[in-house]
Amino acid sequence: MAARPLGDSYGGYRSRLVEQLRLQGIRDLAVLRAVGGTPRHLFVPAAVRHQAYEDIALPIGSGQTISQPSTQARFLEALALTGTERALEIGTGSGYQTALLSMLVREVVSVERVPTLAAAARQALETAGVTRTSVVVGDGSLGWSPSAPYDAIVVAAAGPDIPSPLVAQLADGGRMILPLDRDGSQEVWRVTRRGGEVVRQRMGDARFVPLIGKYGFDPGNR
Ligand code: SAM
Repeated sequence: MAARPLGDSYGGYRSRLVEQLRLQGIRDLAVLRAVGGTPRHLFVPAAVRHQAYEDIALPIGSGQTISQPSTQARFLEALALTGTERALEIGTGSGYQTALLSMLVREVVSVERVPTLAAAARQALETAGVTRTSVVVGDGSLGWSPSAPYDAIVVAAAGPDIPSPLVAQLADGGRMILPLDRDGSQEVWRVTRRGGEVVRQRMGDARFVPLIGKYGFDPGNR
């Protein structure tokens, strides 16, 4: 999908970030175009805006972070999106990855457990002119059944195991990418549903905030 013309003064920084992602091995042109066309500076607090286009995670309040762009690009690339998908995102955070997804799929539902973050993300998405997305508040470890099934699911927080409701909400042929935290060591997994079969592939290492919820960690322990 085409990048939006942004008309701001951050274009050079975005181009440099895209080049860095390319050098790190991101090959999916649609993902690179999405990063080049999404104003990350609108999704971070003013105090860290000068770092918006560095390839680093940044604090967004409520003890949470906007993830590193290269990690997000790798996740999105692993979903092999074609533009026709209905996507579910767990962990809206700042809304930046929601905005990236909106350029790569037909429709996005994003679930965030912290109401203030969800409200700020909705505001940032509106300011950035992002459409075909809805941000809802809830426990994303349960998925979001009213809009299921989904062709693609991306989880931006690490739970102890693959949440069974998310597998159940994957359409036939659907792909899910998620980090898992097993005894403090994190791994990224891709889960693909093919008919009755569910294929799990380990993709690499990860470093994410905890997924808190019924199929995640207990908030008391984190
Ligand atoms: N992708 C986001 C972005 O671009 O800013 C960053 C997400 S941040 C690393 C992880 C988010 O997951 C946090 O905002 C956290 O509140 C949220 N989270 C944790 N457990 C959750 C759950 N069970 N349901 C929904 N959101 C959850």
